[in-house]
Amino acid sequence: MRSLSMFSRLLIVSLGVILLCVAVLSGLSYVNLRDSSIRARMNSLKAQARDIGYLAGRKSEDALSRFEASESAVQDLINWKAQRISEEYGAYVRVVERTGKDYYISPSWSNGSAKIKAPSAEQQAEYMSLALQGQDIAQPTDSDEGPQFTVMVPWTQHNQLSGQRTVMGYVLIQTSAQTVHAVYRDMIWQTAMAAIALFLLSAAVVFFVAQQMTRPLTAMADAAGKMAQGDFEVRTPEEGGKEIRALSQSFNQMAAQLSTLEQSRRDFVANVSHELRSPITSIKGFAQGMLDGTIPPEMHGQYLQVVVDETQRLAKLINNLLNLSRMENEETSLAFSHFELNEMIRRVLISRMTQIDDKNLEIEVDFQDDTCFVHADADQIQQVIINLLDNAVKYTPSHGMVSLSTRTEKDRVIMRIKDNGMGIPASDAPYIFDRFYKVDKAHTVGKGTGLGLAICKRIMERHGQQIRLVSGEGGAEFEITLEKGNDPGGSHGNTGAGKD
Ligand code: ADP
Repeated sequence: MRSLSMFSRLLIVSLGVILLCVAVLSGLSYVNLRDSSIRARMNSLKAQARDIGYLAGRKSEDALSRFEASESAVQDLINWKAQRISEEYGAYVRVVERTGKDYYISPSWSNGSAKIKAPSAEQQAEYMSLALQGQDIAQPTDSDEGPQFTVMVPWTQHNQLSGQRTVMGYVLIQTSAQTVHAVYRDMIWQTAMAAIALFLLSAAVVFFVAQQMTRPLTAMADAAGKMAQGDFEVRTPEEGGKEIRALSQSFNQMAAQLSTLEQSRRDFVANVSHELRSPITSIKGFAQGMLDGTIPPEMHGQYLQVVVDETQRLAKLINNLLNLSRMENEETSLAFSHFELNEMIRRVLISRMTQIDDKNLEIEVDFQDDTCFVHADADQIQQVIINLLDNAVKYTPSHGMVSLSTRTEKDRVIMRIKDNGMGIPASDAPYIFDRFYKVDKAHTVGKGTGLGLAICKRIMERHGQQIRLVSGEGGAEFEITLEKGNDPGGSHGNTGAGKD
């Protein structure tokens, strides 16, 4: 059973249930039919016996009145009626008076050639005693000759003087059950045919329904198999019942996401390879040039600086990749604490003074309040500020301006970093946070890795906060939101975070 398909299982189970139902129903209707045919036969035999009993009563009254002509006419009627019953039902008839005298006895009974044994003397005595008590019998009985029906009804005579009817004897009809069996054997056959037709019809319906139900699942299994082999473009038809449709929809969504993931994995590998290859190629080229003398010794200092810069860029790239991968895998949980954001910004600015001074950049700081406590992972937020500030410094020409601001809005803190550098064209804005995305693709050597903003985005997402490009015209302006925090010890002027 385990190796069977769902379709086969559904089919087998449903057909089994249908077969059981049909068998039970047929069995019940067989028993019902048999019982009702037996009852009908009994009732009809009883009615016939009563008719003969009536005639026997008339005959006995005529005998009393000595109407011999009438008496013999009634006897003829009794004979005629009894013979008809014998022929019609294959029955044996006996009309007995309590004196023991027979008004009628089937000839084959009297000469012993009957297929049904004549009742024994004891049975006759029992019939008579029951009849005298006014009781009758109508029952199927088993005999050596097989199943048979026995009907016994008392017959009475009208007493002129008392006006009462007196039991005078009984009419006995016995018949083989074969004739009734033949009737209900026909019925069994008809029932069986109806049962088979019902079964076949239900089987066809079940087959159709099971096929309808399992088709989308089979399609999904095929699609899953293809996906397992790397084909993420495969989709399943969204059909079938409500649940199956929902499953197909989820499956297709999953396939679409996997397809996107697979695409970004490919892009990622291609980008990483590209990013690694270009600095390594230039390092190798310059080193080779210095070794074989293509680069004269007086130029070595200049080229060695390029080699150092490229090596630094490689190191940064690898660090960024590690950071990103750690965050993507959610390896490190966030260490939330309450800390002072303005102070953190000041410290980051101080750490970047060399680059700022090199470019003669003007720095403007606009803090709404002296202190601005936030609740976040201090190290991670510091990383975001560093990345944003580094970009502002990097993409702003000499004598440009970089401004930083913080303000509180209800339960949020908003920090903005704005510069008046080259800015970000509107067409690039939607992709700016994608991994390896660089606006100025052609002149990136020595500049960035295209991972800084992707890292910022991931950090803010993990905090459940936002980062966005407010404007890219006339310089770039970025904004991050943070959860407002509390002053952990009432102490101002340090980034020393009050850990949760
Ligand atoms: P990179 O290491 O290249 O700076 P980022 O992810 O930090 O990588 O930035 C992605 C791209 O966004 C940069 O290559 C640059 O084109 C653009 N960009 C980021 N910040 C600024 C900015 N302040 N001014 C102009 N362009 C920026």
